[in-house]
Amino acid sequence: MSKQRKAVALVSGGLDSMLAAKVILEQGVHVEGINFYTGFCVEGHTHAIRKRDRERQKRNNALWVAEQLGIKLHIIDISEPYKDVVLNPKYGYGQNLNPCLDCKIFMVDGARDFMEAEGFDFIITGEVVGQRPKSQRKDTMPLVARESGANDRLLRPLCAHNLPPTLPEREGWVDRAALHGFQGRTRKPQMALAAHYGIEDYAQPAGGCCFLTDKSYSGKLADLWGARGRKDYDLDDIMLLKVGRHIRPDSHFKLIVGREEGENNYLEGYRHRFVHLTPVSHPGPLALVDGIPVEEDLVLAARILARYSQGRTAEQVEVELTLLDGTSKLLQVAPLKPNEIPDGWHV
Ligand code: SF4
Repeated sequence: MSKQRKAVALVSGGLDSMLAAKVILEQGVHVEGINFYTGFCVEGHTHAIRKRDRERQKRNNALWVAEQLGIKLHIIDISEPYKDVVLNPKYGYGQNLNPCLDCKIFMVDGARDFMEAEGFDFIITGEVVGQRPKSQRKDTMPLVARESGANDRLLRPLCAHNLPPTLPEREGWVDRAALHGFQGRTRKPQMALAAHYGIEDYAQPAGGCCFLTDKSYSGKLADLWGARGRKDYDLDDIMLLKVGRHIRPDSHFKLIVGREEGENNYLEGYRHRFVHLTPVSHPGPLALVDGIPVEEDLVLAARILARYSQGRTAEQVEVELTLLDGTSKLLQVAPLKPNEIPDGWHV
């Protein structure tokens, strides 16, 4: 009897990686999934925080996909080593600060480590030739295989017919004829295959699997690096960039103002680590002050916050200012008028 082969599948939670794993499972291969947590994942975080997103189903799509497929999923936190990918991508960034090609190489490399350590035979991904302009092109596919060290143990079941046969195909561990030749940006073949398998519920493609593909988010990250004079971040930095209105009146400080109840609750968890402001005479949001503000900056910050409180049309709003040592004082300020907040302050 031939030995049952084992494949490790990169599972993002989207349709493509789900289908790739399904295609291989259907061939009798033992499949387990890996999902890498980078800190920039779109899944769950803001949807869980924001009140307006509350109707959306909150689930970890990678876990959900694994459950649908009936496979084991390994969620691996790579947020620390992943920093080097974001800060120094060898192949540069995409349209925003998304280092997709370096990211793919890094993740496949991580899957290769897992494969070797756990006695698996090959790796599968849901990549499709021509699907993404930078990381999923015919010329970058061999590059990912080579630089990750996975070489011909990396199989892309959805577009295998457009690529040279890999080891699992040559060795007969999988039947190449039963793989696919998808290419280009169209999603129709994936949708047809999903229908063929009776898969009706799946995460809709949203332009990317992480916040780094988002223009506004990347703008905030670039602003953070510019203000600090160096490219660096920690996990709290990148979490806070997902939340609130970021207003930078000057290079040495910025405000993070909650836009709604859910965001205010989230920012509450950070209040003791930041100078912060809360309107007391009128209902309004919490604002964290990031940076090294001087006294007059804090008055300006209080006036900005007052603008976003329900006292925005009042003559004066009372704002409580709390410093890092926990001492606080009350400030009476006139709310800024909308035209006194230049567009350039909005990060
Ligand atoms: S979108 Fe984000 S997670 Fe996906 S390949 Fe690009 S950088 Fe990596």
